[in-house]
Amino acid sequence: MSLAPFGRRRLRVTGRRAIGAYDVLSVADPDGPAPDAGQFAMLAAADGWGGLEDERPFLPRAFSVARRHPDGTLDFVLEDVGPGTERLCALAPGEDVWLVGPLGRGFAPPGEGRRPVLVGGGVGIAPLMIWSDVLGGPTALLGFRDAAHAEGAALLPGARVATDDGSAGHHGLVTELLAEEIGFALRSSQARTSGRRYSSHANRTPLKICRRSGRSQLRIVAVVTCSRLAHEPPRSTL
Ligand SMILES: Cc1cc2nc3c(=O)[nH]c(=O)nc-3n(C[C@H](O)[C@H](O)[C@H](O)COP(=O)(O)OP(=O)(O)OC[C@H]3O[C@@H](n4cnc5c(N)ncnc54)[C@H](O)[C@@H]3O)c2cc1C
Repeated sequence: MSLAPFGRRRLRVTGRRAIGAYDVLSVADPDGPAPDAGQFAMLAAADGWGGLEDERPFLPRAFSVARRHPDGTLDFVLEDVGPGTERLCALAPGEDVWLVGPLGRGFAPPGEGRRPVLVGGGVGIAPLMIWSDVLGGPTALLGFRDAAHAEGAALLPGARVATDDGSAGHHGLVTELLAEEIGFALRSSQARTSGRRYSSHANRTPLKICRRSGRSQLRIVAVVTCSRLAHEPPRSTL
């Protein structure tokens, strides 16, 4: 496991490009340790962090390392969902970020004779990119909200795509593609034809498939932070 050096490092942004609904932020980290696939870093902009409405964001935000290039450049895939990602998605080459990492435990390699299948949704594509690099491009199945988000699949060439609204690839959940891939029969109650993004079926079905198919690793990158007061609209205070 790669260990983070003590303290935070001030690193230079070397690039930022939009891919559909996502931004790929590139940061030069030539002296940092090579992260293991599945590890993440805490990022904050060196300037303009804490200067937005209500002085947020206060804390650095967690992002999976999506790729490490031979020169030490790290790529991160971001979706602008709040003040932290808004600021990071506005960074230009030449600006700096504070980075702490790599953190967390990386993915464990597939067992002898096992065929890896990478499955992810939305920004969950990020840790799959570096893992795919290590594993030599295994089968990848990706789920997105719609065609604009599905453009992010270009980051993992050859991946099969599912969208909630059917505007690109398979109309339905990525777990339906996974069930097809590994020959797992979904009961009709587990196959969603329409409905809310965070349906309980969408959350439970991957767990059921993983349990049945033997050794699996699950990473959850979407976290819901807390509102200060119950009557406030959804927002975090971090
Ligand atoms: C290990 C790990 C890896 C991650 N990797 C990535 C990655 O590679 N790319 C990426 O884009 N993100 C990643 N994330 C998620 C990212 O860290 C969070 O989305 C982060 O909080 C975004 O910060 P923000 O200030 O932009 O948004 P925040 O203000 O923190 O809001 C985050 C999301 O939560 C919602 N929300 C906030 N408060 C509430 C509430 N009270 N009720 C309901 N919803 C609420 C917001 O609408 C928004 O969708 C990762 C998270 C973890 C833990």
